[in-house]
Amino acid sequence: MKITSVKAQEVLDSRGNPTVRVFMTVGNKILSTASVPSGASTGSHEALELRDGDKKRFGGKGVLKAVRNVEKIIAQKLLGMDVRRQRAIDEIMLKLDGTKNKSKLGANAILGVSLAAARAGAAVNQTELWQYLQKTFRLKSGAKFPHPTMNVINGGVHADSGLSVQEFMLIPQQKKFAERVRVGAEVFAALKLLLKAEGYAVGVGDEGGFAPHLGGSEKALQILMTAIQRAGYKPGSDVKLGMDAAASEFYDKGFYNFEGKKKTGDQMIDMIAGWTQKYPLVSVEDPLHEDDWEHWKKFTAKLGHAITIVGDDLFVTNVERLKMGIEKKVGNAILIKLNQIGTLSETIDTIQLAQKHKYKVSISHRSGETADTFIADLAIAVGADFLKSGSLSRSERVEKYNRVMEVERG
Ligand code: PGA
Ligand code: ZN
Repeated sequence: MKITSVKAQEVLDSRGNPTVRVFMTVGNKILSTASVPSGASTGSHEALELRDGDKKRFGGKGVLKAVRNVEKIIAQKLLGMDVRRQRAIDEIMLKLDGTKNKSKLGANAILGVSLAAARAGAAVNQTELWQYLQKTFRLKSGAKFPHPTMNVINGGVHADSGLSVQEFMLIPQQKKFAERVRVGAEVFAALKLLLKAEGYAVGVGDEGGFAPHLGGSEKALQILMTAIQRAGYKPGSDVKLGMDAAASEFYDKGFYNFEGKKKTGDQMIDMIAGWTQKYPLVSVEDPLHEDDWEHWKKFTAKLGHAITIVGDDLFVTNVERLKMGIEKKVGNAILIKLNQIGTLSETIDTIQLAQKHKYKVSISHRSGETADTFIADLAIAVGADFLKSGSLSRSERVEKYNRVMEVERG
């Protein structure tokens, strides 16, 4: 069925910043929409998020140029195409843009169209989105459900908690996805009571996790251990822990400015390795700066056999960056964010390269989100190991978990 219109609009994300929403009609009957998320601790190798720079609107963050690029440039080329030709659609946009980092049209413009096309294709075929993705990209069929990694304590640039580590995550180990969600929510509730009892604030940060001034990242790990126990679970066997240091954010000229201390790469490695000994910390994301390959290599050599080491800002969902990582034996897992690369096809290519080389796959939201749940279907479609969608509060976070539960229920 043919694409009959492609429109876009500037809408707001969960932080109140403008982002792109695309509307696509197919055969004049089917309407699909898709919304693009936006990061705060953005990797410098990510595709470009096009913003207007007009200080009179949204402090320069408007996305009217991206909206115009969808309607005036991209739409012209796609009208009349069968919406199910996903790879061809993505290819046309890549050609139209012609730059390495999508700086001409904007990755936000391109991604909105790419996702809206996939959703419209699923509607045309009258199948669930995750099944449509499996068919379109010839993925292994059948539903495999990911482990949620739930960011319940927010730090870094996502909160003013003063914690250098950006995210502390619960990774529930129950069999069913819905059980993992329930356990996560119960621990989250226990954590709230615990924080209150100890006199900490219980307001939440950008990803819906608490943002208490704990005075140090290790304290966050300790308090999570207690919260898990208070909720009636065993840390380790029932609920494991994960963290995202997002270390590029506190790196400066060869050093890591970590909670008032200037640390070398080796000191960062030792500190985190120490935590993996003391706590059931089984997943560590971006422990080092995005271009500090030397220490990434050391970190992987030291801990790669024991824990999941996730490259986010390091790999930026980019096949070329991931190839470098595979070659250098760096990391053993990749974070996947659609807007880091900008098309669905390239995202699938990166996931497949990772899976081929036995890297674990974690499908991720951004700190600036919308109600769009595309990533939940993507995680199921590719049989991802993890789904990272923030905390157990705020609809833009939990709707992704809700969507997976919906599919699991069948
Ligand atoms: P971001 O953070 O969306 O602000 O980049 C998420 C992450 O670092 O994983
Ligand atoms: Zn990250």
